[in-house]
Amino acid sequence: MMNYFYPHAMAQRVYQITPQLLKSWGVKGLILDIDNTLTTHDNPIPDAGVSAWLEQNRREGIAMIVLSNNKPERVEPFAKILGLDYISNGAKPLKKGYQRCAQALNIPCEQLCMVGDQLFTDILGGNCAGCKTVLVSPIRKEKMFFFRIKRALERFLFYICPKKTADSIIHLDKE
Ligand SMILES: [Mg+2]
Repeated sequence: MMNYFYPHAMAQRVYQITPQLLKSWGVKGLILDIDNTLTTHDNPIPDAGVSAWLEQNRREGIAMIVLSNNKPERVEPFAKILGLDYISNGAKPLKKGYQRCAQALNIPCEQLCMVGDQLFTDILGGNCAGCKTVLVSPIRKEKMFFFRIKRALERFLFYICPKKTADSIIHLDKE
């Protein structure tokens, strides 16, 4: 159970995730979080480098879909800018959102990789659904109290991470 909290790989930014890595995992598609992964919270414009990274994935034949817990009013216009399908009100970490993504892409969860900035939603849910998972650093630190608690808990989880698990996590920004 414990291991469900830890990602298979970590990166500063999404564009450090290469098609080579995904292929080595047998991954054919990506499930992408939006807020603090592809852009800052409620920002309508993708972060620098995101569009080029999506284009690279497309060229490599990697399917992509957005899975966000945010409202359709936020998710739809952003996904449209990126030219991606989306699922809003995704209820991460529950499995059903991931399963809907797998259905929409027609790729089983085992061949999908979840990319997101939160351990308790993106990564936990992705691991439980059987996906590969990559944790990215939040683009901007959240100021809200609730979020600061969550981030402190995330740091604590890494602090108590079993050595074997910690050693197995790939650090993409150090490659
Ligand atoms: Mg997020």
